[in-house]
Amino acid sequence: MGEREVLLEVKGLKKYFPIKGGIFGKKTVNHVRAVEDVSFNVYKGETLGIVGESGCGKSTTGRTILRLIDPTEGSVTFEGVDLASLSASDMRKKRKDLQIVFQDPFASLNPRFKVGKAIEEPLKIFGTYSDSQRKEKVKDLMKQVGLKPEHIDRYPHQFSGGQRQRIGMARALSVQPKLIILDEPVSALDVSVQSQVLNLMQQLQEEYSLTYLFISHDLSVVKHLCDRVAVMYLGHMVELADKRHLYNEPLHPYTKALLSAVPTPNLKPKRERIILQGSVPSPSNPPSGCVFHTRCHECMDICKTEKPEMREVREGRYVACHLYNEEERTV
Ligand code: SF4
Repeated sequence: MGEREVLLEVKGLKKYFPIKGGIFGKKTVNHVRAVEDVSFNVYKGETLGIVGESGCGKSTTGRTILRLIDPTEGSVTFEGVDLASLSASDMRKKRKDLQIVFQDPFASLNPRFKVGKAIEEPLKIFGTYSDSQRKEKVKDLMKQVGLKPEHIDRYPHQFSGGQRQRIGMARALSVQPKLIILDEPVSALDVSVQSQVLNLMQQLQEEYSLTYLFISHDLSVVKHLCDRVAVMYLGHMVELADKRHLYNEPLHPYTKALLSAVPTPNLKPKRERIILQGSVPSPSNPPSGCVFHTRCHECMDICKTEKPEMREVREGRYVACHLYNEEERTV
């Protein structure tokens, strides 16, 4: 495989949210460690999935990359530019290249804006076209995402969930972004509609040469769309690999447990179900050493005291687990 071009580089990303307490409720008494030292690259043209249970920090990672919330530490470099070094106005301009589609498009659409106005809004902000050109562009975009241009004057509530997600895609596409963060984009949709929207996303990716960062709790959905997959647990990235390796031969005990719960097609041998004991610890008081050690079937003494680093244990396969400390990297 030739050298792939890195579009986005995330290094040592941390996001802590303060917990206020004390007599007046103004003193910071602790922090929720939502994202803890997360690093990864996104290559041009690929879809990288970030998967994990609710509260693992995947959505916070996405929002911190876009600086919708400021990181506590770490850097995010997009096309060689450190986004943290940009002023607020330069960051606003940069957002043209980095768009986001949320789980609930209804919440992100102004209910008083007709759909045409909602799709037109980003075009106005970035001042790309004249009034008449914008109208034409909106109609084109509606066609592109499978909506009828004659519905341009309808309101968001007059569309179904799947159609509203198509409006979300049209809005994101309107400014010709390079990277789109898809944050649980199909979780709120019926299964039959999910695959239509996923197919549309795939088709648009090819047409517009898009790069996706796809955030989801659903391993089956991630498998459908992604080239590589990163797994997060309690704010930490624990495994990152290409889709084929991650699904066929997961390395981290948490990934193994997650995948054991995914139904397999009838012809494939069933995986032995791994039931995780206990519940996810609090991100304000994470376990020492490996954060997964309180629930891990393969826990060793070292796991309780030493945090495993994310290491490339085989080509392109990264895992944070002491089980692989001695493993030779095979190239
Ligand atoms: Fe389990 Fe230890 Fe690996 Fe953590 S480091 S996942 S506790 S074996």
